[in-house]
Amino acid sequence: MRRLRLYSNCKITSGYVRDVIVDLEREKFFFVPKGLTLMLSKGFDVTEFEAYKEVILNYESFLIENRLAFYPNFLFQGDPFQNCNDSFVKISNCILVVKDENEPNSLMQITNLLDTAGCQALLILLEDASQNVNEILKSFSESKIRSIELVVPYRENYLDTLSDDYELNARISLVTFYNAPSEKYLKLGDYKQIFVQLLPKTLSELLFLKVRPEHFRCNIPFYLESLQGNPYYLKKIIVDMKGNVYEDLVSNRVSGTVATLFPADSEFEFIQPEFTRILKSEIDICKNCEFQNICPDNRIPQRKQDGTWYHTSECRYNPYIGKWEGEEGYQDLKKSGVVSTATEFTIDEEILACAIEAAWSDDQRLS
Ligand code: SF4
Repeated sequence: MRRLRLYSNCKITSGYVRDVIVDLEREKFFFVPKGLTLMLSKGFDVTEFEAYKEVILNYESFLIENRLAFYPNFLFQGDPFQNCNDSFVKISNCILVVKDENEPNSLMQITNLLDTAGCQALLILLEDASQNVNEILKSFSESKIRSIELVVPYRENYLDTLSDDYELNARISLVTFYNAPSEKYLKLGDYKQIFVQLLPKTLSELLFLKVRPEHFRCNIPFYLESLQGNPYYLKKIIVDMKGNVYEDLVSNRVSGTVATLFPADSEFEFIQPEFTRILKSEIDICKNCEFQNICPDNRIPQRKQDGTWYHTSECRYNPYIGKWEGEEGYQDLKKSGVVSTATEFTIDEEILACAIEAAWSDDQRLS
């Protein structure tokens, strides 16, 4: 029997009511019914499921037409992703919070650390519009950082924030102005374009955006980090201009300084708080969500008395009915019969069945 097989860059993540196939090469995802996942695990043997032949053939053409699966000429062994879930990169991205003047040497220590750790992505976050971002950019001009994102408070003549120096701006990919009077999107430059967005949001609204579908990341590095822990915080360092290293963006807890935590003359280990190693599959609600390997949610999970994890606030997505807040048929967790607290995680199947029925009218069936 020939077995239909997913391409190795196509990964299935299971949710409560449906699954997704994430295409890490084309950076997109496809919803699939749970029956299709089952068929894939059985090798699409039509003879075994004769009664469902038509459904199986539909599934088969869906997978082949969307270039998600193929019939290999020989049998593959194993999963190429299995042994590549870690990399030599110790710090994959950095948030530099600019709220004070820098201490002498601290910027140099930060750039040295990021280069040693293999970090290529930097987000510079300014709390005051009068701070000079170009001076900071200059200090990274010789570094290995490949992509820089700026987050800057809005001011009149906001574009003056950026200099005309092509060299200085070459690595900037996105500039976000928060506290803007209205929403606006621009592209600057000809050869190398810089995307600029003006958002009428406060800094905390911007940093703690509840996750939406457009935030999902369907790429290989993100997927691999999601197999090791929280892909938003894992291998992310948050530092200020004095070289203080923060545990997360919420608590303002300082775990040390760049100089003390990462001595320049030694091999260092980047020790992060325990929650950064917690997989979404270990957190109530997220564990039943089909987006768990592509979701950059930055809420910090809390440990429950029994050692498992939960979130104190609710996501905009309800994975038990497959609906986003604002979508027709959406109901929150409680109304869907799902309770998630510090002491309890329960699903009332009867209430949930009614919520699913109400959420999906005939023309929107989960199929
Ligand atoms: S339930 Fe969890 S994994 Fe799913 S979208 Fe919300 S935060 Fe992301």
